[in-house]
Amino acid sequence: MQIYNTLSGKVETLSPIKKNKINLFVCGPTVYDYTHIGNARTFVVFDMFVNYLKHLGFDVFYLQNITDIDDKIIKRAKEENIAPKDLAIQFEKEYMADMQDLQIKSVKKYARATEHIKEIISQVERLLQKDFAYQSSDGIYYDVSKFKEYGKLSGRTVEGAEDGTSRIDESVEKKNKADFCLWKLASPAEASGGGGPSWPSPWGRGRPGWHIEDTAITEKYFGPQYDIHGGARDLIFPHHEAEISQMEAISGKSPLVKYWMHTGFLTINGQKMSKSLGNFITTRDFLKETSPQALRMFIFSSHYRSPIDLKDSSIQEAKANVEKLQDLISKLTIAEGGSLLPFGRKEVPSFLSLQEKFWQELEDDFNTPKAKAVLFEITNLANEKIAKNELAKTEAEEILDFLKEVNKIFLFLDFKAKPEKIPENIKELAKQREGYRQAKEWQKADQVRQQIESFGYSVEDTAEGPKIEKSK
Ligand code: AMP
Repeated sequence: MQIYNTLSGKVETLSPIKKNKINLFVCGPTVYDYTHIGNARTFVVFDMFVNYLKHLGFDVFYLQNITDIDDKIIKRAKEENIAPKDLAIQFEKEYMADMQDLQIKSVKKYARATEHIKEIISQVERLLQKDFAYQSSDGIYYDVSKFKEYGKLSGRTVEGAEDGTSRIDESVEKKNKADFCLWKLASPAEASGGGGPSWPSPWGRGRPGWHIEDTAITEKYFGPQYDIHGGARDLIFPHHEAEISQMEAISGKSPLVKYWMHTGFLTINGQKMSKSLGNFITTRDFLKETSPQALRMFIFSSHYRSPIDLKDSSIQEAKANVEKLQDLISKLTIAEGGSLLPFGRKEVPSFLSLQEKFWQELEDDFNTPKAKAVLFEITNLANEKIAKNELAKTEAEEILDFLKEVNKIFLFLDFKAKPEKIPENIKELAKQREGYRQAKEWQKADQVRQQIESFGYSVEDTAEGPKIEKSK
């Protein structure tokens, strides 16, 4: 398949380091609050992408870190008057609950920063030994001027590096503006157990900086080089740039990561959804009104690199699209059983060629909006054929198999939902009503509609004929 690589700025053929194996890392959450649907977009995209790589036959190790020690955690814990560790444990649980609700099962290993302190210290030691780091009164810092390729991912220079970014390590003793903290020394109060948590190190008690946890974790599970690193585009700088500087300086091997993949933002009124702007909707609140299937369909409808603006109309469209596919599944399931529809002969290989087109679109930089267009071409064609009683039973089976395969990747459908069986008497009434309608006997048709409704069903006249549903 072809994939866009932020590092080269080009679409490249995906060719893993080891033939069939893909090591993939995505920056996980900082656990101090609930996830919002901006975070959910990124995690759902990578879930879909990993499922897709597995569909292509790759053996994927999907690793995610959990930032369970960080300034934001310490600050929030202070506000809530609880221990930072307890806050992190609580929000890690909430994160896992959100991931389960979003149907994300592709992550093979979640690695907590606090369980990799030994590995983090080892990386800081090696950076000091190789002279890529220096000690100041409040911690150990990375010297960006020593790493000649600093900026190769983001295109930023050492001088302009910090402008306009958050999570900067402030220190008056820094040698360069862009230098970042690898190990934060604890204040005397922290070291004696008050305030933030700290761990012993060769430089005194302290805690890791933000960037070093990821390379310590990936080095442990993948080694100094691996295949794919993902995250949303806000992480390109300074976070991912720092990861490259750390690991490539330690190992002397380049590149740390073969393919860098970055998702576009979920925006609201054109602005990035974020906790700091206060314009967010938590995943759990969102899922009270919208099914995870519809949210996944909404995410599937845009290219992973493009921004998506959250609009009510787009969510309604995603819901309608899921319903349309569910409706097709019901019809095809009945068709597969061979009971209700008399089927025509299979003549044209149209469905197979459309299915091929669907897979081809995904091979091209995981182009889900184009794949979606093909999916609904298939749906419309199937509906047309069903309406004309021209769909062959083998075609119904083929389309069902295809939809099941698609759903293993995208999980926007529910194959367990039993197609609703409409009782015979209701079908009979609907037929009667249709007869009256054809004869333009509107009053009688209306009376029968009321009768249908009194049994708890509704009838809607669609382009494909009357559609009966259980009233909601
Ligand atoms: P955080 O918990 O803030 O570290 O974010 C977790 C993940 O969500 C990271 O990969 C972020 O880049 C990503 N993320 C944060 N906000 C958005 C957004 N509005 N749209 C898409 N991804 C986001």
